[in-house]
Amino acid sequence: MAKIGILGCEATTRDMNCVMVGCLGNLRGRQGSFEEYEEAEPLDLIGIIHCGGCPTAVGSERIWQKVQALVDYSIDALHFTSCLTHFCPFKDEFLETIRKEYPELKVVEGTHPFHDLEATRAGLKELASQKAVTPQRMNDLVFKRIKIHTEDDEDS
Ligand code: SF4
Repeated sequence: MAKIGILGCEATTRDMNCVMVGCLGNLRGRQGSFEEYEEAEPLDLIGIIHCGGCPTAVGSERIWQKVQALVDYSIDALHFTSCLTHFCPFKDEFLETIRKEYPELKVVEGTHPFHDLEATRAGLKELASQKAVTPQRMNDLVFKRIKIHTEDDEDS
């Protein structure tokens, strides 16, 4: 039995509503990075935690607490999500901190493949910046240009 923990990107879940369907689907189907495990070895997902947000102000040291929450349950391997692996500018710092704090812990970079890495990068950039379709913000309320959803909208 391999006890697995997943470390994800806070921004993809908090800001983009990612439900990790790709990560979890690959785990269930033993695809992507989960192919590496022996076929006879059951995979047990112990838990998922996210990084806590971009550590620009506090440095990467905070990550150990997040990982500790999974290590408390004796995980055998920590998988970085594929978003964290490919797009996080702090990934290497996270890796360095985790390897220093938990030298015995197996760390796997990624959960699932991307069909088109560059298209995914462009999509994530758009989801983060919201430039193509302007979202409403506090200034829309202040300047009285805010659009309010009504029940009539649902009928049309
Ligand atoms: S630090 Fe990396 S993994 Fe965490 S929210 Fe920022 S981009 Fe995502």
